[in-house]
Amino acid sequence: MKLSLSNGIFSKLSIKENFAAVKQLGFEYIEFNMKSIKKERDTDVYREQKALATSGLKCLTLHSATLHIKDPIEVHQAVYYGKISLECAHALGVPLMTIHSNVSKKLPQKIREKCLREVFNKEIKPFAKKLGIKLALENLSYTSTGFGKNVDGIEEVLDVIDDGGIGITFDLCHALETKETDNLLDKYGSRVCNVHMAGKAHKPFTEPKPELTHFLTRLHDFGYEGPITFEIAHGTSLEEIAKSKAIFDRLLSLF
Ligand SMILES: [Zn+2]
Repeated sequence: MKLSLSNGIFSKLSIKENFAAVKQLGFEYIEFNMKSIKKERDTDVYREQKALATSGLKCLTLHSATLHIKDPIEVHQAVYYGKISLECAHALGVPLMTIHSNVSKKLPQKIREKCLREVFNKEIKPFAKKLGIKLALENLSYTSTGFGKNVDGIEEVLDVIDDGGIGITFDLCHALETKETDNLLDKYGSRVCNVHMAGKAHKPFTEPKPELTHFLTRLHDFGYEGPITFEIAHGTSLEEIAKSKAIFDRLLSLF
């Protein structure tokens, strides 16, 4: 398993300072979160590409910009967010993009289905395929405006958009908050290709709590060798991040 840091935590910094902050903490790998780009302008991808090359960091995954559609008229905007995210992933040489369902949990089921088809089946999936980028659907928390927090919800989404190639980004924080960790692992353990790592409320683990070692043990049993991506709340101090990293450096060497 490879320790990685979502650079979303430094989204208020310029992209150069953002990467420098990641490096200073001793990380080699990052998840590029599209929040790090203040405005999604198409040509900005060249700036990110140059900054990443200069930094020497390796980008393992990219978190798509997302819009949880509340009305079908927003489909075009969600498609744009998804496509510009894929362009950025392509420019950064990233093989995997984390996606949300992009539909609001308040939409009726029939409309959800229609929007999912229009966003993913018509637009995002063919474009991702063309660029050779795999998509990984993330489990959400009950606090999210988006749809897909448990097995039933994720199955509904996958029934519409998956033709066998969609992976899972397992967000441990969300799974702990919804108490779905084991249910989600039972169903999707073998399909996990990215992990968002944090305790409840996106607080970093600063000690190896039982729920953490249980989760890592189960992941290991599924043969998981992919990224363990710290996705932690804004306002977390650099000391706490460093402390958490030290714990994971030790913990992951056991798996
Ligand atoms: Zn997440």
